[in-house]
Amino acid sequence: MIQNPVPWPNGARCACVISFDMDADSLIHIARPEDAHDRLYPISMGRYGPTVAIPRILDTYRRYGIQQSFFLPGWCVETYPNAVEAILEGGHEIGHHGYLHEDPIEAPDQRYWFERALAAYRKYCGGTPAGYRAPVYNINQEVVDLLVEHGFRYESSMMADDIPYRVETAAGGFWEMPVHWGTDDWPPFAHYAEIGYMMPVKAPSAGLGAFWEEFDAAYEAGGFFMLIIHPFLTGRLARWRQVEAWLEETLRTKDVWFARLDQIADHLDGLVARGEYTPRVEHLPYYTEPQGTRQGS
Ligand SMILES: [Zn+2]
Repeated sequence: MIQNPVPWPNGARCACVISFDMDADSLIHIARPEDAHDRLYPISMGRYGPTVAIPRILDTYRRYGIQQSFFLPGWCVETYPNAVEAILEGGHEIGHHGYLHEDPIEAPDQRYWFERALAAYRKYCGGTPAGYRAPVYNINQEVVDLLVEHGFRYESSMMADDIPYRVETAAGGFWEMPVHWGTDDWPPFAHYAEIGYMMPVKAPSAGLGAFWEEFDAAYEAGGFFMLIIHPFLTGRLARWRQVEAWLEETLRTKDVWFARLDQIADHLDGLVARGEYTPRVEHLPYYTEPQGTRQGS
C-alpha cells in the first residue's frame, strides 16, 4: 500500500520508466586515470553500450512507440555524438550524469565538473538537461545546491520513497524520482574487477525476474516503477530479448504509463498547480554537521 498515490494520466495504474545510464568507458577512465587509456578490455566493454546496445534499445523503443530517459556523463556526450544524436532523434531525453562519472563525494570542486558537463549538454543536446542522476547515486548537498541554482526540474539518485516526492531547500527544490538497488542491473550483472565490483553474474531470467517482481508490487499499489540499467549490461542480447518480451506483455495486458522522467515531472507540476495532488516533501539539508561527535570534553 502507498499512502499518497499519484493520479497518473488517463487513470493508468503505474508509471513506468526504463532509464539507462550510458556510462560507456568513462568508468575505467575515472577509476584508473593513470593507465586506463591502454586498458583495452574495459574500454571495449564500455564501448559496447553506445555502439551496439544503444541502437538495439532505440530500435525496441521505436517499435513499441515509447520514449524514455537516458543519463550520460558529459564526457560520453562529447565522445559518442552519434549515440547522442540517435537518442535525441528517437524523442528520448538525456539527463546530466557528471562529467567523467566522478563520484561527487570523492571529487572535490563539483561546480567545475558539473558545469563542464553542462557545457557539453548545451553543445550536443541543444539545451540544459531537465534532470540529473549522480554517478553511483552519491549525491551530496553541494550537488543539490547546484541543481537548484541551475534550475533542474528533477533529480534521480535518492531513495526516500516508492514514488516521486519533492526535495526542498531554502533556495528552491525539485522532484525526486527515487531509485533503489532492487531495480538496478549492477548487482545482478556487473563483474568488473578494475573498479572493485565482482558480482557472480546471474542468468538473465534470474536477474531480470527480480525486477519484474518489483514491478508487480508497484503495479498492485498504483505506484512508480523505474529500472536503472546500463546499455553494456542489460543491452546485451540475451538480457535485452527478455526485457523486450516483458515490455510487449506489459503494454498488451497492463494499464501502465511509460514516460520520460521530464514528462512525469510535467505531470506532477500540473497536478500540483491544479490543486489535485499534494506531494510528500523531504527538506534538505538533512544534517549540517557530523552526528557522531563526542559530547563534553
Ligand atoms: Zn553511471
